[in-house]
Amino acid sequence: MSEQAVKRVIIIGAGQAGGEAALRLRQAGFGGDVTLVGEEPAPPYQRPPLSKKYLSGELSMDRLLLRPAGVYAEENVAFLAPLRAVWIDRANRRVRLEGGRELGYDALVLATGARARKLTLVGADLAGAHLLRTAADVDAIRPRFVAGARLVVIGAGYIGLEVAAVARQTGLDVTVLEAAPRPLARVTSPEVAGFFLDEHTSKGVRFALGAQPAIIKGKEHVTGVGLADGSEIPADLVIAGIGVAPETTLAQHCGLKVENGIVTDAQCLTSDPSIFAIGDCAARPMAHYRNRVARLESVHNAVEGAKIVAAALTGQSHAVEAPWFWSDQYDLKLQIAGLFQGYTQVVLRGTLKERSFAAFYYNGERLIAVDAVNRPGEYLGAKMLIQNGRTLAPEVLADASRPMKELVAQAQ
Ligand code: FAD
Repeated sequence: MSEQAVKRVIIIGAGQAGGEAALRLRQAGFGGDVTLVGEEPAPPYQRPPLSKKYLSGELSMDRLLLRPAGVYAEENVAFLAPLRAVWIDRANRRVRLEGGRELGYDALVLATGARARKLTLVGADLAGAHLLRTAADVDAIRPRFVAGARLVVIGAGYIGLEVAAVARQTGLDVTVLEAAPRPLARVTSPEVAGFFLDEHTSKGVRFALGAQPAIIKGKEHVTGVGLADGSEIPADLVIAGIGVAPETTLAQHCGLKVENGIVTDAQCLTSDPSIFAIGDCAARPMAHYRNRVARLESVHNAVEGAKIVAAALTGQSHAVEAPWFWSDQYDLKLQIAGLFQGYTQVVLRGTLKERSFAAFYYNGERLIAVDAVNRPGEYLGAKMLIQNGRTLAPEVLADASRPMKELVAQAQ
């Protein structure tokens, strides 16, 4: 697609990726029509605080917005919401919206994100049983998210553990159920997972690991969660954080290549050269990982996709960054750079006991990722090494007597 031929861009999905893409197109000098279609009522907002400071009540909705609501009009972006796109006619390059209106495009950006996986248990529709993906989900949770309430969190991934942390800080009684034998099984090593398990346990969170919830009990309102072994955990509130599924319905209906997400090339182009896909809904080759195709669920990945599309549509280049992510639990700031999957060795710098350490992941001799807890210097240093394709021997990084900055300089 030649960028000169693109006069009309439609972006479907007004989340982190879609909102960024609209504004970055303008920043990059795109002068054509930009239409942003979002099914949620609010302008694009950040989801990370939903399981952190929005849940605790410290942040209000207007503080979640990516940019002030008026920016889209100022930037001449037609923001259509709440409105769902329901059909893509690839042959005629048209998008149909709920209600029947159709819009033509020269380039289409799918930024449809992901949906929280639903519990398939009897009782999952009772009052007091919730998912957590949108601001509306948290608004529904908050009236019962009060000191003394009994909360069962299903799923010990980052979102589940962040909810558990905020809940304990708010004075709720918290039990976390996890089907795997340890928390954070999909996202980090046993060493780091064990650290977070101990932290939560010391704050009074109870864990049932290897637990299979079988039913959510209650008449109209949740009263407990029954497990497959016959035991029951009393509950006033149940929050499930059991992962997400990429929202690929439109892409599948119009015949784009979809595997785990909408498959794209490094430019975020799908199997149709007029259609891009970015953010949680898309899977693209990771430049820093030998072009392994991965679907990431992170703010950085959403922003990166927006930058790639804005550059592609304005004939500019964009140097992709290695992935990064974070999680906040209690006073612990976990910062992650790189992708740890496929690691063969993990090396610690600092100690878990100090609550300030970095776990470096190696594949063979290559540094591929870091999990840094309250160690911003180690995070930044490792991120720079991964970004630049550099490495340091495990024993060098493990030697905490030498400042990280000095070690990183040595590797450049
Ligand atoms: P989304 O933000 O999901 O936006 C997609 C939007 O598209 C949605 O509004 C959806 O309603 C809309 N849409 C879908 N289909 C249609 C359609 N047909 N028509 C119109 N609109 C449509 N990441 C981090 O890096 N750090 C964190 O600490 C972190 N914490 C998180 C905590 C929570 C509770 C959640 C839910 C996510 C967290 N994430 C975190 C992940 C991060 O928020 C996501 O990766 C990011 O929001 C992805 O952006 P996106 O635009 O691809 O998708």
